[in-house]
Amino acid sequence: MINVMQPTLGQEELDAIKNVFESNWIGKGGLVADFEKMYAEHLGSTPNRVLSTNCCSEGLFSSMFLCDVKPGDEVIVPTISFVGAGNAVCANGSRLVLCDVDPRTLNARAEDIEKVITPKTKAILLLHFGGVPCDMDTIMPLAKNYGLKVIEDCAAGVCSQYKGHALGTDGDMAMWSFDAMKILVSGDGAILHFKDPELRERADKWLYFGLEAKSGYENSVSQKWWEFDISAYGHRAIMNNVTAAMAIEQFKKLPVFMEKREAVHNAYNEGLKDLEWMELPTPLEEGTKSSFYFYHIQLKNGKRDELARYLRERDVYTTYRYFPLHRVPYYGISGNFSGADYAADHTLCLPMHQSLTSNEVQMIIDMIREFGNKYC
Ligand SMILES: *Cc1c(COP(=O)(O)O)cnc(C)c1O
Repeated sequence: MINVMQPTLGQEELDAIKNVFESNWIGKGGLVADFEKMYAEHLGSTPNRVLSTNCCSEGLFSSMFLCDVKPGDEVIVPTISFVGAGNAVCANGSRLVLCDVDPRTLNARAEDIEKVITPKTKAILLLHFGGVPCDMDTIMPLAKNYGLKVIEDCAAGVCSQYKGHALGTDGDMAMWSFDAMKILVSGDGAILHFKDPELRERADKWLYFGLEAKSGYENSVSQKWWEFDISAYGHRAIMNNVTAAMAIEQFKKLPVFMEKREAVHNAYNEGLKDLEWMELPTPLEEGTKSSFYFYHIQLKNGKRDELARYLRERDVYTTYRYFPLHRVPYYGISGNFSGADYAADHTLCLPMHQSLTSNEVQMIIDMIREFGNKYC
């Protein structure tokens, strides 16, 4: 079976984990701090704006508290979003307001967002679909105009850039995921970025019970180091030296991963470009960089599901991401989301990972062409 996504792990990660075992401390420690520093540099930011946590979803949930979103406030989320984004808003007692997206890129545009802004809107929780940047040059001024917080779900944008800077550094807060299905994988783990270093300080406490001092050692004032105070009903959501050890080794491999993913992307582009029954991913906007997390095609002839089945019967696994939140009955939201509906009914994500060989990619292209010859 050819997987749609797959991690690339090796001896380097195993060796690093072995070292953690031998250090006799597997909890949060120096390696987590090292990883945060590396990532801050990778973002072209500073360590006082970067913080790790146990998963990107925790970042989504915590963003509500950290960005002062209150119960009753409205938060705009593109309907093509990760389900954790919708849950984060609703679990906070806030109102989930969905907006439509561009049918081709599956990213929300400023005009989609503006249509659903009301006096109660407090924040926008954006998704950069597949790590392809939204048009921040129009979204940021819109947010500023209406005084809205901007939270960026960059889960899949580990190496994405927007006009000369790292994706995720425009908004008040952003998060990247390192779960088992992402590009840089550490089992679980995530990085958060905050525009304001003070918010990072607040997050640091919030993600560890809201504790005012992290351990007795650091609490020099107290004679009794087991005493503590809290400043909020915070969570416990941290990385540890095992996940950080993996993350650091994976981080070093990112340039190679990106090269491979881009090569797969280009091979699909080349192999499928003359097929009139499908549309290929929109070329990137000038000055932006993708992380090539997805390679999504769109079938114009309504045969997306047939193609998915055809490939699956031949051991090639494909999928569609992300199921629109307005079609999730539990949220109880309806409306006109024609861009998202088009995307959800026509888009197919082809296998995309750094272990795909050029033979496998060619085989997938051949199968798709064969499907076209038979049925399109
Ligand atoms: C994977 C993913 C998440 C969740 O990340 P976790 O680290 O698994 O919590 C959030 N948003 C998007 C867009 C994702 O793809």
